[in-house]
Amino acid sequence: MRDGAGVLVVISGPSGAGKSTVIRELLSAKDRFEKPLFFSVSSTTRPPRAGEKDGVHYHFVSRADFEALAARDGFLECAEYAGQCYGTPRAAVETCLARGGCALLDIEVQGAMQVKRRRPDAALVFLMPPSWEELERRLRGRRSEPEEKIVRRLAIAHEEFNYIGAYDYVIFNDSVEKAARQIEAVIRAERCRVARLLPWVGLQTP
Ligand code: ADP
Ligand code: 5GP
Repeated sequence: MRDGAGVLVVISGPSGAGKSTVIRELLSAKDRFEKPLFFSVSSTTRPPRAGEKDGVHYHFVSRADFEALAARDGFLECAEYAGQCYGTPRAAVETCLARGGCALLDIEVQGAMQVKRRRPDAALVFLMPPSWEELERRLRGRRSEPEEKIVRRLAIAHEEFNYIGAYDYVIFNDSVEKAARQIEAVIRAERCRVARLLPWVGLQTP
């Protein structure tokens, strides 16, 4: 009973803020968590970057396959970002939550707003770069996109900052280790929420 339901954590932030890096750090220390920590592998139509593996970083799919899964209501949320489709396969997240685990979603702001509507118990975390200059440095330093795509991602970043008010937590990624520990703290705090425990002990809000 005390364990309560699973925890759904959304991590958003501008491209290059360090979401994947911080999540990797969290996953590398899974043994710090008492319950399973699960990274939701998204489906996307964007081509893989060098080093990205199908089924690990993303499920790389055609637009037709993406649309077929969307039509079957197979996504918890989905959105278009920089001309490509991205979506969270629903089944794996639900399985994780039913087991009381923590599901981590690395998704952009429109998808995060869909999750917030469908799952009001989700904790929404916005990962901030230390400065705009550092964001540009990280995005360019990653060498994963040509310059015109970097410029597009930076333009999207400007719009994404407008959504911060809809998030529950803002974490600055000046150190990967520190940001990961702060997300760990969010997960622990979310597990202690009274609202999460009420249904398990048969109580209602007075
Ligand atoms: P995102 O997933 O948000 O697009 P990445 O995790 O790919 O961002 O990180 C973008 C780049 O910034 C990568 O080259 C990564 O190594 C680097 N990076 C991430 N976090 C930090 C940090 N705290 N300090 C310095 N560099 C970082
Ligand atoms: P990238 O192409 O850099 O891997 O991801 C681009 C953006 O898409 C990032 O903001 C990332 O968080 C977001 N993203 C990745 N997977 C999903 C998903 O399943 N749904 C949504 N809405 N966004 C996603």
